[in-house]
Amino acid sequence: MLSKSDVFYDRYERKAELQHQTHYCPGCGHGIAHKLLAEAIHDLGAKDSTIFVSPVGCSVFAYYYFDVGNVQAAHGRTPAVATALKRSCPGSLVIGYQGDGDLAAIGTAEILHAANRGEAISIFFVNNAIYGMTGGQMAPTTLVGQTSTTTPWGRRPANEGYPIHVAELLATLEAPAYIERVSLHDGKNIMKARKAIRKALDIQRAGAGFTFVEILSPCPTIWKMTPVEAQRWVEEKLLPVFPLGILRDRRPAIAADGGPPRKPMAEVLGLTRDAAGAIPASGAGAAVQPVTVKVAGFGGQGVLLLGQMLAEIGLREGMEVSWLPSYGPEMRSGSAHCHVCIAGERIGSPLISNPDVLIAMNELSLRKFAPHVRAGGLILYNQDALPAGFDAAAARVVCVPASRIADDLGAARAANAVLLGALQAETATFGAEVALSVLVAAIRNPSLHELNRKAFQAGRSFAAERTAAA
Ligand code: SF4
Repeated sequence: MLSKSDVFYDRYERKAELQHQTHYCPGCGHGIAHKLLAEAIHDLGAKDSTIFVSPVGCSVFAYYYFDVGNVQAAHGRTPAVATALKRSCPGSLVIGYQGDGDLAAIGTAEILHAANRGEAISIFFVNNAIYGMTGGQMAPTTLVGQTSTTTPWGRRPANEGYPIHVAELLATLEAPAYIERVSLHDGKNIMKARKAIRKALDIQRAGAGFTFVEILSPCPTIWKMTPVEAQRWVEEKLLPVFPLGILRDRRPAIAADGGPPRKPMAEVLGLTRDAAGAIPASGAGAAVQPVTVKVAGFGGQGVLLLGQMLAEIGLREGMEVSWLPSYGPEMRSGSAHCHVCIAGERIGSPLISNPDVLIAMNELSLRKFAPHVRAGGLILYNQDALPAGFDAAAARVVCVPASRIADDLGAARAANAVLLGALQAETATFGAEVALSVLVAAIRNPSLHELNRKAFQAGRSFAAERTAAA
């Protein structure tokens, strides 16, 4: 195809002066690889169903060029992001595009495990044996003796190890369906690369498993060569170390398996429903309302467990739920928080920027997260009163001295149960009986069940009395 593929944007908006050209250096292989990919996507009629995952590296700006769905991945994480995209959008054509530093150094674990799981994604690995974007450091694929800014004496196996042959490494795994190494150093090989790219995408479309094409590509700028010298260097130096050819072309049995079971999670966990469709453990059968909650405090306050209990309450009532924890390296006393989403439909992201409810178990968390609670939302604060000078004008704040109440009952650690009770009474987004049932199931030590029941009821009573007095 001589004209520009319609898979590319008409104009590239990255820079006003570069609206009709890419940022790649003259003679760089990325431009050729992009063109081959765009043509393949066009010919497959897959423009509207393609999701392109861009890496960190010279091709970081690929999303400025491909007029398809685009996601920018963190360094090395393209196969993980592509996995999530493919599993959540199985009908899409998911393309991961990575360089040698990104894939073979920072993302070694991601590529190995995605390939080993046989994810039905296509990864295009541009190998130019050097870090380009960051100025020429040694990459895992740098040749023995090749100079780089970090090996000015030339790569020495005794010090830096040998070049990693990623395609061969992946070919030792059972799951991959197709692995080929191609090169862009002349017209004949570009045509072979074109064929390989199409084949990889075809296999993905057929749902036949993981496909991987390693593309040897010139980098004249960092190699300090003219484009012609760089092409010759690929042929004379790279090819003997990274021989071209197909290393895998079979359809593993795993592809026919159909992926992970798509059952409701409550069913997977054995929380079967009764004839009326309710999950018996829920007791009252009170419907759970969709709600997003952030629970925050110190490690050791039961922050994460409170979030887990909220998620399980939703789960038992047949809702879609997510629980996303975040905590420091300390086991105790470090900051900890979690995001809980209870929804009536599939959850796009477990990350909650503006929760409906914040449960702040200490002042630090209150000050940090209260500004993000949505207008009209609720903040439960684990104290008798708000700290001086605090103002959360957009949200309703309820002070519940949960730690003190729990302490009076005999165990300050039951403060999370007090707050669970207070939240139930304040919002009625879930029933008291299902919450109690989940609470008891979550406390492993039976001798603490009664105390936690009391703590839960105390939280409910506190909220109810506060409402009555208001
Ligand atoms: S530094 Fe190398 S890989 Fe990066 S754009 Fe320039 S030629 Fe291409």
